[in-house]
Amino acid sequence: MGRIFVVDLEGRIYKCKFCKTHLALADDLVSRGFHCRRGKAYLFNKVVNVTVGPQEERAMLSGMHTVADIFCCCCGQIVGWKYEAAHEESQKYKEKKFVLERGRIVDGVDTEFYIDTRPTISDTEDA
Ligand SMILES: [Zn+2]
Repeated sequence: MGRIFVVDLEGRIYKCKFCKTHLALADDLVSRGFHCRRGKAYLFNKVVNVTVGPQEERAMLSGMHTVADIFCCCCGQIVGWKYEAAHEESQKYKEKKFVLERGRIVDGVDTEFYIDTRPTISDTEDA
């Protein structure tokens, strides 16, 4: 325990806005139509590199849910929540899925962000 293993995702990914840790794949995006108190939110089948907080009952627009806040495992910022259970039958599809707040994640294909940090060899005579 104590050692944090960070999972690297490939493809179109959503990352923590604060520390750029990979959080979810666009392939696992279920819905962009979610809202939270701070604005838009996305529903995902699964996310990685998060820690799940204690469960609590929360009254949402769509009814009572048992949810748990989720936090980036690297910087500790809250990034969304997990639906542990839904009380309404029509909301059951959300169970065990994750919501990431749009304002707390950034998206992109990772290769766009690669910066070449290799040192430039400038003193080679016979290049
Ligand atoms: Zn983070």
